[in-house]
Amino acid sequence: MTRGFFNVPVATNEPVKSYKANSPERNEVLATYKAMYNGKVDIPMHINGEEIKTGNIRNITPPHDHKHIVGQYHIAEKTHVESAISTALAARAAWSSVSWMERASIFLKAAELLAGPYRAKMNAATMIAQSKNVFQAEIDAACEMIDFFKFNVQYMTDIFKDQPASAPGIWNRVEYRPLEGFVYAISPFNFTSIAANLPAAAALMGNVVVWKPSDHQAYSAQVIVDLFKEAGLPDGVINVVYGDPVMISDTILASPDFSGLHFTGSTFVFKELWKQIGNNIHTYKTYPRIVGETGGKDFIWAHNSANPLQIATAITRGAFEYQGQKCSAASRAYIPASIWNSVKEHLTNQVNELKMGSPEDTSNFVNAVIHEGSFDKIASYIDAAKKDNDAEVILGGNYDKSVGYFIEPTVILAKSPTYATMTTELFGPVITIYIYEDEAWEDSLKLVDESTEYALTGAIFSKDRYIVEKASKALENAAGNFYINDKPTGAVVGQQPFGGARASGTNDKAGSAQNLLRWTSVRLIKETFVSPEDYKYPFLG
Ligand code: NAD
Repeated sequence: MTRGFFNVPVATNEPVKSYKANSPERNEVLATYKAMYNGKVDIPMHINGEEIKTGNIRNITPPHDHKHIVGQYHIAEKTHVESAISTALAARAAWSSVSWMERASIFLKAAELLAGPYRAKMNAATMIAQSKNVFQAEIDAACEMIDFFKFNVQYMTDIFKDQPASAPGIWNRVEYRPLEGFVYAISPFNFTSIAANLPAAAALMGNVVVWKPSDHQAYSAQVIVDLFKEAGLPDGVINVVYGDPVMISDTILASPDFSGLHFTGSTFVFKELWKQIGNNIHTYKTYPRIVGETGGKDFIWAHNSANPLQIATAITRGAFEYQGQKCSAASRAYIPASIWNSVKEHLTNQVNELKMGSPEDTSNFVNAVIHEGSFDKIASYIDAAKKDNDAEVILGGNYDKSVGYFIEPTVILAKSPTYATMTTELFGPVITIYIYEDEAWEDSLKLVDESTEYALTGAIFSKDRYIVEKASKALENAAGNFYINDKPTGAVVGQQPFGGARASGTNDKAGSAQNLLRWTSVRLIKETFVSPEDYKYPFLG
């Protein structure tokens, strides 16, 4: 029951802690890491608030030490998925009608818990099982997740305030109902915050959810479940299942009550899911909402008016942070011939300084790639580049999976702008650079725009405002997040709403009101105070 128009706390971005030597946050996260690393976690599925342990288990091993087992998680049979669906639907009546303040309070409380007592645990789980260094874990698993919860509460109330005009004698209202049915959230391995946000954004708007985290993010997913529980999320609102993605998706997408897909992951998987939803369309009670943020082949383009050191720094950070496993990571660059030697010199100096190893050693900038499949794929492209005539590996190029899935930050020079690594998403610490003749800068923009199917992020570097304007226009459809004189990664909730178009996604901008709108179905209510009693209009006279 509401007895007031309540304002929610004004959202501000969570400050990023420094983790400098001897800081309390560094001591705490490393102690937590050690304890979790040496323990054995047993991760159940969560259906109706119950812990489901099937005994059908898979091990969790850190990518940087893949023979070491830190725990296990239990995977589903079809019956578990069916029970997750029926449980979610049973929880819907209460959850969809509870006042929005109660839902907001749960996620605001989750944000406060994460800023405090859950911070070290969420970061440590992300460092261990997703191989992120402490800074990458902090900006993702702590800060971005906190920001998602806080800003989404604010955006929800902004949406609610959007109301129609009313002519004299009537009152028009719109109410933002949750979707009728349940939402299916499928999350990727690479961002703990995205994993939390996919089910949470839908749940905040009053929806019930079946969430399938990535196998490679199960450890931090369990911390998210604990966080939601402590914040007061009722049983059955977000149900978590692990296991065979095809069986789980087949079961869920066959349900007549399936009403929305909130997906982040690779382009191929999303397109297949879309196709499956299309094939099942006559089954559903309502047209499902389909939101997907998918792959990228993100670019850095430089003009000869740009500063070579700034370009090199954008490449080093943009391509190699988190081993290039950010959807926004720079993986192709276009550099004019006249400044290439200078860019190369700075880049070489920087890349040669990067240390690689376990996240427990905080001096490591680079850690391991997520799993063997990814390692083998990236290594095969590096091997091919070493042999191919139209490519040259100029930095890095070594890899070793004996202890962890380590791949050196690698720079490939391509003679052809359509060379395989200029156009294929590798999702690893590899960037390919194409050198263009200075005077052909306009043609090079065409290459940036047309060489790949993606349009996620991209960056341009120039000091010349005419060039900046022309390049921005030429590339207006080449990226959903477009950066001028900055690296193409590091979007912050509330500041740079994130998402791409073309084969990179539906561009519904995670961490924005646009995204939340997809999880509502508006009901317009028109009330007439004095109803007419004469059917005749004046024109009939
Ligand atoms: P992925 O597509 O392999 O997996 C994503 C999720 O889909 C996982 O939960 C996985 O288990 C599930 N899945 C896999 N096959 C499936 C199937 N046949 N049916 C249903 N679900 C299935 O992606 P990933 O390796 O976890 O993440 C990397 C990819 O995600 C990259 O392509 C990256 O660009 C993309 N990504 C995009 C964004 C963005 O905002 N655009 C953000 C993060 C990651």
